[in-house]
Amino acid sequence: MANTKKKNKLSLIVPCFNEEEALPFFYNETVKVLSELKEDYEIILVNDGSGDNTLKVMKDLSKKDKHIVYLSFSRNFGKESAMYAGICNASGDYIGLIDADLQHPPVLIKDMITALESGKYDCAACRRVDRKGDSKIRTWFARKFYKLINIISDARMIDGAGDFRIMTREMAEAVISMSEYNRFSKGIFSWVGFNTYWIEYENVERVAGTTSWSFWGLVKYAIDGIVNFSNAPLDLASFFGLATTMLAFVYLLFIVIKYILYGDPVAGWPTLVCVILVMGGMQLFALGIIGQYVGKTYMEVKNRPHYIISESNKRNLTKIK
Ligand code: UDP
Ligand code: MG
Repeated sequence: MANTKKKNKLSLIVPCFNEEEALPFFYNETVKVLSELKEDYEIILVNDGSGDNTLKVMKDLSKKDKHIVYLSFSRNFGKESAMYAGICNASGDYIGLIDADLQHPPVLIKDMITALESGKYDCAACRRVDRKGDSKIRTWFARKFYKLINIISDARMIDGAGDFRIMTREMAEAVISMSEYNRFSKGIFSWVGFNTYWIEYENVERVAGTTSWSFWGLVKYAIDGIVNFSNAPLDLASFFGLATTMLAFVYLLFIVIKYILYGDPVAGWPTLVCVILVMGGMQLFALGIIGQYVGKTYMEVKNRPHYIISESNKRNLTKIK
């Protein structure tokens, strides 16, 4: 009797922003790996508003290979949105995320699929064990960030774990259900839970093109991560407020007692200026923290779509979400 068991399908999502040079390399490497799997597969290339010929490269690939699905955004929405659009439009039983610059070695897909096929895991993810090629200062800040976020937030984030992973459909649905506008995937993957199998690999340099991350971009990203997954900065502001109020009270007592004992010599305006400056600074700082949360809340309340697709070769497309 013929084997009627349906083959599982893998949807591999590739966010691309100005990757015209890297994409052909990526395609060759990845197809080599995927064609050896027993799973059926599709490669979902998401053009995140590239200014170069990325879309044309995608279209050419899709003409010669029916496994290629391309989604092209109406503008640059960011990698998080590109991944979200990919997951929303994936039809596979397994859903994977991978960078287009070959910094995520495609050979690891095999190990990830093996782990998932065992049935013991809902997700197989890769984490790089070193930061070769990154600057010292960037590495230092990254390490501090992970230490901090793991102390103050309820989602555990693992240093070196990027977006390179393959999930079951069940987990992917959970990820989609977190439809927040301010997306911080590292936190989302950890927040939804499920059993994750970890694979370690050494950092690889980009095959072509340049990274789109500036140092300040990363700092902003880190702040996003903290604000999205923790209220600790708000608690900190309250704590400082309370602590200074108490200090002020003690100082007040001190002044009253001093007045009773020694009378009222007019002095102390330097103290006064210092107190005003410190208090003013702290108030602004606390306001800034609240502002971060209010700003995020404002964006969430507007409920704008995460992405808008202007062009694609897919039928039954979730065009805007
Ligand atoms: N990317 C994207 N939209 C953006 C920025 C980046 O889709 O606005 C994609 C990019 O094409 C690549 C992946 O996200 O496939 C990772 O980006 P990059 O290599 O610049 O980041 P890094 O590896 O330095 O963290
Ligand atoms: Mg990269």
